[in-house]
Amino acid sequence: MKKLGFALLMSIMVLALAACSAGGGGGAAGEGKFVGIAMPTKSSERWVADGNNMVQEFKALGYRTDLQYAEDVVETQVSQIENMITKGVDVLVIASIDGESLTNVLKKAASAGIPVISYDRLIRNSEHVSYYATFDNFKVGVLQASYIEDKLGLKDGAGPFHIELFAGSPDDNNAYFFFNGAMSVLQPYIDSGKLVVKSGQTAFDQAATLRWDGAEAQKRMDNLLSAHYTTERVDAVLSPYDGISIGILASLKGVGYGSDSKPLPIITGQDAELASVKSIIAGEQTQTVFKDTRELAKKAVEMADAVLKGEEAEVNDTKTYDNGVKVVPSYLLEPVSVDISNYKSVLIGSGYYSEKDLASQ
Ligand code: BGC
Repeated sequence: MKKLGFALLMSIMVLALAACSAGGGGGAAGEGKFVGIAMPTKSSERWVADGNNMVQEFKALGYRTDLQYAEDVVETQVSQIENMITKGVDVLVIASIDGESLTNVLKKAASAGIPVISYDRLIRNSEHVSYYATFDNFKVGVLQASYIEDKLGLKDGAGPFHIELFAGSPDDNNAYFFFNGAMSVLQPYIDSGKLVVKSGQTAFDQAATLRWDGAEAQKRMDNLLSAHYTTERVDAVLSPYDGISIGILASLKGVGYGSDSKPLPIITGQDAELASVKSIIAGEQTQTVFKDTRELAKKAVEMADAVLKGEEAEVNDTKTYDNGVKVVPSYLLEPVSVDISNYKSVLIGSGYYSEKDLASQ
């Protein structure tokens, strides 16, 4: 009897202690706090992975989440964020569709005391952005262009070669970083005549692809090929994103590229999306840039968690990302160039994909 009483007392004490530490903020960080996660679209795998990874990470810390996708419609994203504010989220993590369209809704978030983490894409024209988690976006462009430089043998003086340039969406701050990074490598060869852009379309605005739309890129490539490449061959295409690369490939194959007499040009990409990695294995797309969304999700979750605890988050860049109002403290992760020679070690080795994922169906 005595023993039983003692055991009961002990368990009550243990329970009481657990309750104390939970309420005191020193225990499981999230403690039921609520996170709004606004992502641009499900049409690209990477954002699906980003969203799922974040939900997992937040849950592991005890947070509840509301994950929304806006299918690349700006107004939908704005109203999703408004709803999150109304539902009383404690923090917002946003990968914007149009980085310049969130100024007003972020004012509302600020009035409600809700901090904001900018995810992968910089939110512009707002002071209410606490942190920015992303990759070294300039380097993404450098990796794409250096790949072309390397494969064409430009450093060894080979050339001249024909190249055409594609850029991402003009409402996405990243698109400029990718393009500028790529042009930092390509421009000297264009200036020296070793790379020839027959269309003459070398400015960002001419190369841009609204909303990163592969179908739009395919149309532009159709036009470039019929206007400038009926007798000559295009040797390389700078593509900023796998979805765009797939569109470009469809256009090229439509006019007979991909045969022994007319091999496909070098085509870059980004995100290591499944279709593109399979295309690389099949010898069509040449390269992609892998950005480990698991790592990015972790960083964003760390940032949100720190902000909610009133702590400082770890950053490694406090200069690059001026959003027009402030320089947003950022953490930049490292992108990795992937092609046929290293996809196994980088993508399968890291567990991002399994052998089975990459087996063609
Ligand atoms: C991301 C890229 C992605 C592109 C299209 C950019 O903001 O950084 O990873 O390829 O959007 O979704």
